[in-house]
Amino acid sequence: MNDISVAVIGGGLAGSEAALVLSRCGIRVELFEARPHWCSPAHKTDLPAELVCSNSFKSCELPSAHGLLKAELTKLQSPLLQIARECAVDAGSALAVDRELFSGRVLEQLISDPAITFTRKELSSPPVNHTYCIIAAGPLASEPLVEWLLSKVSSKSLHFYDAIAPIVSADSLDRSIVFSASRWEEGEGDYLNCPFSKEEYGRFYDALRSADQVNARLFEDARFFEACLPVEVAAQRGFDALSFGPLRPVGLTDPRTGRWPYAVCQLRKENASADSYNMVGFQTRLTIGEQKKVFSLIPGMQNAEFLRYGSIHRNTYLDAPLMLSADLSFRSMPDVYLCGQMCGSEGYTESIATGHSAARFLASRIKSGSLQPPPTTTALGSLLRHVTATGDTPYTPSNVHFGLFDPLISTRKKIGKKEKKELYCTRALQEMDRWITSGNVTIQDT
Ligand SMILES: Cc1cc2nc3c(=O)[nH]c(=O)nc-3n(C[C@H](O)[C@H](O)[C@H](O)COP(=O)(O)OP(=O)(O)OC[C@H]3O[C@@H](n4cnc5c(N)ncnc54)[C@H](O)[C@@H]3O)c2cc1C
Repeated sequence: MNDISVAVIGGGLAGSEAALVLSRCGIRVELFEARPHWCSPAHKTDLPAELVCSNSFKSCELPSAHGLLKAELTKLQSPLLQIARECAVDAGSALAVDRELFSGRVLEQLISDPAITFTRKELSSPPVNHTYCIIAAGPLASEPLVEWLLSKVSSKSLHFYDAIAPIVSADSLDRSIVFSASRWEEGEGDYLNCPFSKEEYGRFYDALRSADQVNARLFEDARFFEACLPVEVAAQRGFDALSFGPLRPVGLTDPRTGRWPYAVCQLRKENASADSYNMVGFQTRLTIGEQKKVFSLIPGMQNAEFLRYGSIHRNTYLDAPLMLSADLSFRSMPDVYLCGQMCGSEGYTESIATGHSAARFLASRIKSGSLQPPPTTTALGSLLRHVTATGDTPYTPSNVHFGLFDPLISTRKKIGKKEKKELYCTRALQEMDRWITSGNVTIQDT
């Protein structure tokens, strides 16, 4: 094992976590970080694990999917999560950090670790003098590396922007208004439909036109929006731009009236258990507060629970389910692994989670083990399944949310929202303990 070494490309959240986990498993690592020689338009420092925007890793509270992912990573002894806790600032139930202190501590751990060589260099491909490579170059990876990836995968499987529509939980919809139907009654009524009268559409339209948007950053090219128009930009083109576009009602008969409504917001199943739904055509740059306010004006969605909010931003990511095996290695290049935002795990904690997982899978392989992914009843297992095996087309990056989990098996017909989340969490933590004690997940076993 002494001859084996791993190159990690990118000293961001995923790459720093991967390097520290590998080292704790007794494996030599060279971590390559391009800054300060090259710097993405979002990074401001040359520190590793820089938080490019908010200083919050989101909620720690249970029962929430974000809190659960952190609880699981804590059980797995995630080095970066531990450092984040040491650098926490008061932020209610969220884990927010002093960002410079956090990145500074990550740097200290990386450079004081005898198994890690921290090299400041921009790489354009995996280096040949290492046995394995983990790519963790992030959503704004440098161009030469992206060029190399393009030479290895089909150009259709590498994406440069995310256009994400919100996801809502099925049991928060008002079923006395929302009806199941496919357009022209094709299929078995696969969609849920929220029908607007003209007055309701007018109120929604006015609110949408005046809602606040997140500003595009300087490096985000506004021309992109022509290819995938945000719903609020489409609305600027005239009163009926939406009712003739993504909200067109044709072929959808409302059972309450026997007629086509004035407009319809369609919701598409997000998972096999049909407990979460994607708002078709609702990719958006509205702020989270405005999404809550404006989208609750859609008939049937007045109390909608948002499992994920919409967004549009620069993001280099790969069609991971097509390209990666369950252990995050490339099917076509089994000695190269991909993690962090580039594989479509969306968010700081999720990047840490996939960086942690890639390192564990690789460490197990180097030690002739065969680590199986965590159960898909856990937050980590369901995130990894989304990244490596979701059947969604097109593939959409995702943060962790309960819609990704295996459904609960219960004999009871109706379970309240809070209780349901508690049941998800209890089940996940038990299953994670079982996975950890299955014997093959030890860390610090040098
Ligand atoms: C503008 C922006 C704002 C975001 N805001 C948030 C937020 O507020 N909250 C949230 O949860 N998520 C946010 N995200 C999403 C995501 O969680 C973060 O981008 C996160 O940092 C991703 O982690 P990562 O490790 O995959 O990539 P990064 O943290 O970006 O790390 C990648 C590292 O690779 C280095 N690198 C790139 N190319 C090379 C190369 N060729 N050779 C060597 N090194 C290289 C980079 O310098 C960087 O240090 C944001 C994303 C963007 C783009």
